[in-house]
Amino acid sequence: MFFNFRKCVNIITLTVRKSHSIKRFTHRKTDLTKVTYNVQRQNFNELQQKHIDFFRKLLGEHRAVMGVSNLEKYNEDWINNLKGSSAIVLKPKSTEEVSHILSFCNDNNLAVCPQGGNTGLVGGQLPVFDEIVISTELMNEIISLDDNSGVVVCQAGCVLESIDNILAEKGLMVPLDLGAKGSCHIGGNVSTNAGGLRLLRYGNLHGNVLGLEVVKANGEILDCLSTLKKDNTGYHLKHLFIGSEGTLGFVTKVAMQCPPRSKHTNVAFLGTQNFGKVLKTFKKAKQDLGEILSAVEVIDSSTMEFIDEKLNIKSPIGEYPFYLLIETSGSNESHDTEKLNTFLETALNKHFILNGIVASEPAKINTIWSIREKIPEGFKLCGAVFCYDVSLPLEHYFTLVDDMNIYMGNLSEKVFGFGHLGDGNLHLQIEMKEFSKEVKDHIEPYIFKRIKDLGGSISAEHGMGFLKAPYLDIARPQSAIKLMRDLKILFDPKGILNPYKVLPWRIF
Ligand code: FAD
Ligand code: ZN
Repeated sequence: MFFNFRKCVNIITLTVRKSHSIKRFTHRKTDLTKVTYNVQRQNFNELQQKHIDFFRKLLGEHRAVMGVSNLEKYNEDWINNLKGSSAIVLKPKSTEEVSHILSFCNDNNLAVCPQGGNTGLVGGQLPVFDEIVISTELMNEIISLDDNSGVVVCQAGCVLESIDNILAEKGLMVPLDLGAKGSCHIGGNVSTNAGGLRLLRYGNLHGNVLGLEVVKANGEILDCLSTLKKDNTGYHLKHLFIGSEGTLGFVTKVAMQCPPRSKHTNVAFLGTQNFGKVLKTFKKAKQDLGEILSAVEVIDSSTMEFIDEKLNIKSPIGEYPFYLLIETSGSNESHDTEKLNTFLETALNKHFILNGIVASEPAKINTIWSIREKIPEGFKLCGAVFCYDVSLPLEHYFTLVDDMNIYMGNLSEKVFGFGHLGDGNLHLQIEMKEFSKEVKDHIEPYIFKRIKDLGGSISAEHGMGFLKAPYLDIARPQSAIKLMRDLKILFDPKGILNPYKVLPWRIF
C-alpha cells in the first residue's frame, strides 16, 4: 500500500532503484596523482620484462593485462579525481595465485595495489605511481552458504549485490547495503570496513565478518576463516585486516553472518522545519519503532536543490529545510505498519515533522530510496566535487555544513550535506566549477581540524586511503600512529602493500 498522510501529495516518477554498476566520468581530464599531489616515489623496483614473463607464465596473457587503454579503468577512480600509471593489472583466480604473486613481488621489491570494484572514495584502490594492480575481479565464487546458521563464505571478488541476490533465494540478506553495491566487492567492503545504509540496524563489519583468509605481503597464507560466532582463541587477528585498506594483507576469502531477509518494509520520506526537529524525530523513531527501525537518512535542502539541478529529481513532498528517510523492516506487516503509523501521527502532532509520504510496495520504496541513492550520480555532472565523509556528535552534525558554507564564500558553487544520521555519519560535499588544488589546500587541513574541534572523526566509513592519509595525525595521537607503523613493518617489512595509503606519505 502507498499512502500519504495529512497533505495528499503525489509522488513523482523517479528512476527505480535497481541493480546498476558505477559508471565512470568520461568528460573530465585528470592529471596524474603524483603530479597534482607532488608525491615522492618510494624506492621500489620498476616493472621489467623478466617480471612480466613471470606474471604471464603464472596467469596467462589475458590475466596479466597490459596496454594504456586496457588499464584506464584500473588507473582512474569513477569520479575522475585521481590517476595512477600502473603498467600491468593482474587478475588471479585463487588464493594460491595471489600468494605466488605477492611472494614474487616481495622478493623483487615491486609495489602492489589491491583493487576490488574500484568504488573507493579516498583513492586507496588506485596506484599512485606504477604499482602493480592486483584485481579481485575474477575471484568471485561463493564457497558455501549455510541457511541454518546464515553464514556465507565467498571469495573476495564477489560483488556485494550478487551475494545478496544469492542470499535472497534462501531468505537471507547481506548485513550491509550501499549505493555502490552493484560494483563493489566484498573484499573491498571488508578492507574499507564499509558502513552504508543499514549499519544502524546490523552493525559494522567487525561484528558481521566471522572470519577471513588473507595473504601476507611475503605470500604466506593466513587462515583465519572461522565460521563460528564465538571463537575466543587468542588475538582476533581478522580485525586488523578489516578497514586496513590493503596495507596489511590481501583479503582472499570472507566468512560473514547474514540476517534473515525482512518480510515487510516501509519507507517514510518526511519534511522538517529545522535540524532540531530532525533530531527530535530521530529520537522518537528510535523510541517508537525500536527493533524494526532499519535506516535513518537525512538530506538538507541544498542537496535536494543539487539533485533537482543535476538530475531533475524533485522532492515528492514539496520543499523543506530538511528531509528524513526512515525505513522499517520486520516480519509482521500489520504490527510494523501500526507502529510506524503511531510514530508518524505523534511526530506530526508534536510538529516534529511537517509533511511526508509512506511507501510499502517495493517499486515505490525503490522510488523513495533512489532520491537518496542517486545523489552521487549528480557528482559526475559537476566540474569537480570535494567529498568529505565524517562522523560528528549529533548536536554538531550540521554545524560543519554551516561553517563550511561561510568559510568557502564565493570559492565554491555549493556546500551541501546528507548522510546516515542514524550513525552520526555526515557526507559533506563542496561543489566546484573545476578542480583546483589551491582551493583544496584552502579547505584541508582546515576542515579536518574543525571536525576534530567538534569532537568528530575525519573518516567515518570511507577510510583514509591516499587522500586523507597525510592528515592521520589530526585524527590519532602520535602513540597510536607509531603502533600502526610498527604493525605495518611487522606485516609488510618492505612496504610493498599499497604504499602511500592510510599512513601519512607526506611529512609536514
Ligand atoms: P576498492 O575501491 O577497489 O578498494 C577500496 C580499498 O580496499 C583500497 O584501499 C583497496 O586497496 C582495498 N582493497 C580492495 N580489495 C582488497 C582486498 N581483496 N584485499 C585487501 N585490500 C583490498 N562506502 C561506505 O562505507 N558506505 C556507503 O554508503 C558508500 N556509498 C557509496 C556510494 C557510491 C555511489 C560510491 C561510488 C561509493 C560508496 N562508498 C560507500 C565507498 C565504496 O563503495 C566502499 O568503500 C566500498 O567498500 C569499496 O569497495 P570496492 O570493492 O570498490 O573497493
Ligand atoms: Zn555513506
